[in-house]
Amino acid sequence: MKKNIQNQLFFVTILFFVLGTLHISLALLGLVCFTLPFYQYFKNKDRVWCKYYCPRAGLFNVIFGKIGLKKKIPNWIKNGKGKQIVLYYFGINLFFATMSTIMVSLGRIDPIDYVRFLILFEIPIALPQLLTYSVPSPVIHLGYRVYSMMLTSTIIGSVLAFLYLPRTWCMICPIQTLTTKKV
Ligand code: SF4
Repeated sequence: MKKNIQNQLFFVTILFFVLGTLHISLALLGLVCFTLPFYQYFKNKDRVWCKYYCPRAGLFNVIFGKIGLKKKIPNWIKNGKGKQIVLYYFGINLFFATMSTIMVSLGRIDPIDYVRFLILFEIPIALPQLLTYSVPSPVIHLGYRVYSMMLTSTIIGSVLAFLYLPRTWCMICPIQTLTTKKV
């Protein structure tokens, strides 16, 4: 029996966002959050990540376990529409991040060196970047794209957690959708 330590791991989510302010290349560590759940799922044939370790679920539990409006969860979240929308968004986002990083590597476009919300909207606050070592421009570009994805989903998940229940985001999270047999 595995021990549920996700609430203790909530600080990892905060640490990720702090690391991105030191140097955006460190945001590539967020790719672990995309790959580890699938690794554990195929290894254990179970959503081990979601049940025991996910730091983002831990963050939602820790913050919104005590505060929140606890409203009734709307149908679009419960009936699968929300899952579909977020899954399509996630797919488009991954495709955009991959293709644009390739284009930056080929020198066809400049790196997008700022954070966006929902792919399109530039967040008008520049990340500090306290460390000044230099890395190739595709790393800068991909770092900002990963940071943007993580920030967007954490903001939306936090709003849902405040309105409804701490882990409402999990009902539409693409990781959950893709590691659940019946999609
Ligand atoms: S559904 Fe998503 S947010 Fe929820 S525990 Fe799983 S990976 Fe984490």
